[in-house]
Amino acid sequence: MLKGKSAVITGSTSGIGLAYAKALAAEGVNVMINGFGDEAAIEKERKGLEAAGVKAVYSNADMTKADEIAGMIEQCAADLGGCDILINNAGIQHVAPVEEFPDDKWNAIIAINLSSAFHTIKHAVPLMRKAGWGRIINTASAHALVASPDKIAYVAAKHGIAGITKTVALEVAKDNITVNSICPGYVWTPLVEKQIPDTARARGMSEEEVKEKVILAAQPTKQFVTVEQVAALAVFLCQDAAASITGAMLPVDGGWTAE
Ligand code: NAD
Repeated sequence: MLKGKSAVITGSTSGIGLAYAKALAAEGVNVMINGFGDEAAIEKERKGLEAAGVKAVYSNADMTKADEIAGMIEQCAADLGGCDILINNAGIQHVAPVEEFPDDKWNAIIAINLSSAFHTIKHAVPLMRKAGWGRIINTASAHALVASPDKIAYVAAKHGIAGITKTVALEVAKDNITVNSICPGYVWTPLVEKQIPDTARARGMSEEEVKEKVILAAQPTKQFVTVEQVAALAVFLCQDAAASITGAMLPVDGGWTAE
């Protein structure tokens, strides 16, 4: 049922976003990827997506810039014939106690992790209403449901995503458009992987100890969530079977928020 639909996925040049793009392309969805990175590597990923027999395009829109976000949604409509599926996924992190938290990091995290979703949704909803169908999925986090110390901007932004999810779900409920958030626990992505050697050195631990005792301390399964598991839920949310799921914050966190 998803064949021929169009999707834009913010922050999809790596990690969870790229997994969404791959999973949707495998269902026959034409995809627009977005994010930063090495030009040749992005082009390789774009071509790889097209190998699934779909159209794949790239937007370099910066999620801190409202005008570039508007342009990205416009480009999606022009290149892919609409914007049926919107996945707000771009995100960054900074870890510091509140009294030392840099203002510029606060502003960047609120812009990328929270405000960008307002801007994409604002421009995508009219296209979805016109098409008579739509799916909005936000990558929130376990940190949309619970807090951890030293992550004030990230936790505030992700809790804000919960507010966006519920509000917009109510506004579009009669329009055949659903709005949900996926709330992953720790997912094995380049973002997490890069922190491990540094943390191991800083704490005098082995990398295995860091994974289990530091990173996965909050995750009862003691297993990382995989990008494929997160993407599979997004594909399900796009299907007719999920038409009554809206305004929901759905954990994929190995039991973290059950504690
Ligand atoms: P990642 O670093 O692999 O991906 C982040 C993506 O966002 C990249 O494509 C990057 O280029 C893009 N990006 C960053 N700044 C941008 C900007 N200004 N404009 C456009 N794109 C920008 O990280 P990831 O782990 O795949 O994270 C993806 C999402 O999942 C984020 O919202 C993150 O908060 C969330 N998340 C991650 C985890 C985890 O454990 N990895 C857990 C819960 C939630």
